[in-house]
Amino acid sequence: MILILEPNTRPESTEYQILVGQLERLPGIRFRVHREIGTEVTLTEIYLIGNTGALTIDQMQALPCVEKVVRVSEAYRVLGRHKQGDDRPASFEYNGVRFGQDTLHVFAGLCAVDSPDSVEAMMKALAAHGQVCTRMGAYKPRTSPYAFQGFGAECLPYVFELAGKYGIRVIAMEITHESHVEEIRDALKLTGNATGVMLQIGTRNTQNFELLKLVGKQQEFPVLIKRGFGITLDESLNAAEYLASEGNRKVVFCLRGMKTNMGDPHRNFVDFAHVPAVKRLTRMPVGIDPSHSVGTRAAAPDGLLDIFHVVAQGVIAGANMILVDFHPDPAKALVDGPQALLMSELPHFLDDVALARETYERRSSLAARLRTAA
Ligand code: PEP
Ligand code: MN
Repeated sequence: MILILEPNTRPESTEYQILVGQLERLPGIRFRVHREIGTEVTLTEIYLIGNTGALTIDQMQALPCVEKVVRVSEAYRVLGRHKQGDDRPASFEYNGVRFGQDTLHVFAGLCAVDSPDSVEAMMKALAAHGQVCTRMGAYKPRTSPYAFQGFGAECLPYVFELAGKYGIRVIAMEITHESHVEEIRDALKLTGNATGVMLQIGTRNTQNFELLKLVGKQQEFPVLIKRGFGITLDESLNAAEYLASEGNRKVVFCLRGMKTNMGDPHRNFVDFAHVPAVKRLTRMPVGIDPSHSVGTRAAAPDGLLDIFHVVAQGVIAGANMILVDFHPDPAKALVDGPQALLMSELPHFLDDVALARETYERRSSLAARLRTAA
């Protein structure tokens, strides 16, 4: 059960103290307080754990400071959509950019940072097309220990500086170890917080629970968690819940395909049909990664790359973020060159995304009209 308190409830107020006292006296119930300090309002939610079946909504609603009571019906307690009275927001803001189940942001960028020139070419092209987000890999988990592992902390200062120069506000960047959070924080500080970072948990770390707990404990950076490529959707959503249960609910969930030969001829079996399902089950914005799911630049007879086709499928189904690999010279890319789009393809890509988005918006308003008419 979740108690949503009146906005700006102060922990030192008498009413709050009375509420806590009453909760402490409930038999077989433990509780956990989650406080989200925003620029204008502070929101407080109290999670009741244990024998909540014995409590009634009316009884809890009558307690001081309580604005609303939600009975938890799903396994994903914090991030899930609960059946009764759950109109909690499905969005968050970070560094001036809002991420929600109703927004769409393109994160086009380098799979792996390989030189200041590539980074600058990418950022410059994005700025020229009004984009404020990108992806940049500094820490690369690789199948072979002999493969390039990313430039790590060494490249961060120039990546962040260039992002600042071109007005990029959010960079999705994978981390594979807790020390990387500190390195990112230090480099951001060094560049006068020129940009923002969304910490990415890759598919290989989806169930690295200790890493999830650590990243979940900090609330400074939002988190992009990839679906695990060989586990069920439920297991991946529980992994996202690990982040939120530790306190960080600025979480975006990203579909990136499943590892199975059934996916041939693509690198992975594209799972973007799950976009609406994840939006129904949780309040997380849902991203798609066409590059790591398709994995090639193969084109259909209509001239469109398979990557373009799956992006359109995901966006037309309501995706909220697109994480996509580009490179100024894919033949020279140190990681994943064969799936990278060319800089010259960026305008066409963005136009194609806009077309699919417009269709999605028309589809959802048609559905809303039919619903109100029924
Ligand atoms: C990536 O986005 O660079 C990446 C390695 O993705 P994934 O974890 O989905 O394989
Ligand atoms: Mn890659």
